[in-house]
Amino acid sequence: MRAPPRARAPHAITSALIGFGLALAPACAPKKPTKAPAGEAKAAAEASAAKKGDDAESPAKSPRRVLLLRGARVMTAAGAIHERADLLIEGEKIAAIGPDLAAPAGAEVIDVAGKTITPGIIDTHSHMGVYPAPGLSAHADGNEAVAPNTAYARAADGYWPQDPQLERARAGGVTTAQILPGSANLFGGRTFTIRLIPDARSAEDARFPGAPEGLKIACGENPKRVYGQKAGPQTRMGNVHGHRDAFQKAVEYRRSWQKYEKGKAAAAKAKKLGVTAKDDKDKAEEPDPPARDFALETLVKVMDGEILVHNHCYRADEMSIMLELAESYGFKIRSFHHAVEAYKIADRLAAAGTAASVWADWWGFKAEAYDGVRENAAMLSAAGAKPIIHSDSAIGIQRLNQEAAKAMYSGRRAGIEIADDEALKWITLYPAWALGIDARTGSLEVGKLADVVVWSGSPWSVYTHAERVYIDGALVYERGAQEPRTDFEIGLRAGDIADGAGEVRP
Ligand SMILES: [Zn+2]
Repeated sequence: MRAPPRARAPHAITSALIGFGLALAPACAPKKPTKAPAGEAKAAAEASAAKKGDDAESPAKSPRRVLLLRGARVMTAAGAIHERADLLIEGEKIAAIGPDLAAPAGAEVIDVAGKTITPGIIDTHSHMGVYPAPGLSAHADGNEAVAPNTAYARAADGYWPQDPQLERARAGGVTTAQILPGSANLFGGRTFTIRLIPDARSAEDARFPGAPEGLKIACGENPKRVYGQKAGPQTRMGNVHGHRDAFQKAVEYRRSWQKYEKGKAAAAKAKKLGVTAKDDKDKAEEPDPPARDFALETLVKVMDGEILVHNHCYRADEMSIMLELAESYGFKIRSFHHAVEAYKIADRLAAAGTAASVWADWWGFKAEAYDGVRENAAMLSAAGAKPIIHSDSAIGIQRLNQEAAKAMYSGRRAGIEIADDEALKWITLYPAWALGIDARTGSLEVGKLADVVVWSGSPWSVYTHAERVYIDGALVYERGAQEPRTDFEIGLRAGDIADGAGEVRP
């Protein structure tokens, strides 16, 4: 929802926390998995060797890290909940799930009896890195609020990988997040998906390899508030015209490139046949390429299905308009974001194959957020749509498990049957789908990336903490472990250092 200047409260809170020195740590190097007690690992290795005989993989043959998490409640987000099972990780991937797995030779074995294992949490909506803490305008790089259409902008170009908020999100079990530009503009720019690895030194280091980019589109109050006193849009009419006009221009832009490619191919063919410009100027001469326009290029990639649309939109009537607009230009909206009225068009969203990234219970903070209900996610689920619980907050992202729990119990109170596995999908598999990475992460299944959280108890309990977080099979967070600390965590407050204008404030 972020749009200047009103939507900055979460960062004010974060900054205050930093001021009091409550922060965790930045990350310098990935941590190595904790060693299991030597006796246990040895016994497990012996048991495995006895079971497998000569077939047991020797560590010398395979340098891949092998880790066995033993005896937890395993919630897979793939339909099954194992009350007591083991999870075997080999290298980056999940190798096996089931009771009493044999530990391969050389495996580290960690007893996690009494704990709960889930997939890593995935947030479809975060501004970490582009609105980092401390919340200074000097490094507020999420809204290029200079024109309603900045589809050329890329969140990755404004991303600060040292944002201390990332460590807190990791401590909440988050392994993957989409970083978006804000919602000041009709077209905010390209989003990108990050892995919350602790040693990223650039946006590219953090980028989820191969994940498609997204485009942030915004409807409603924010663009008209930001541009209403400027050149517009001033109303929802102007907003939708801005969207439609941009896609129409993108159609024409694509056509000009298609024409160029056709002319280029004809020139190549003519050259092959020995036709010269003297014989036929039109055919023999290679045409000049059209001027490249990065904003229109983004929209063409949307229409070609290469870039996934993430549409900030609150009201059901506006979401309906955007679904119609998308259909008329031949693309899909992958997910609406915030979507507090999604429950009113749950059937339409299900039919369109469009997910809805919603909050558990945020509502009423502006007129377009007024008709929110706590049963939103549950009603979407009942209609066969894909609900996602997102954060849009560097605070909320730390407890997405609790947010999903609130939404699940609200649905159950209203008489909607929501299975635990389904509610878990709201923060794991469905966000993975919305980001185009569900074949590789988002559930605990053999062959998927080992993005795994070990919780102290039920993820639905407010007393539960993430104890261990793994990304690609590597331990990236361990509760209670000694963490390095960054200077950015030491009592910085807004005003302590030079801000955007270059002045030092008292
Ligand atoms: Zn936002």
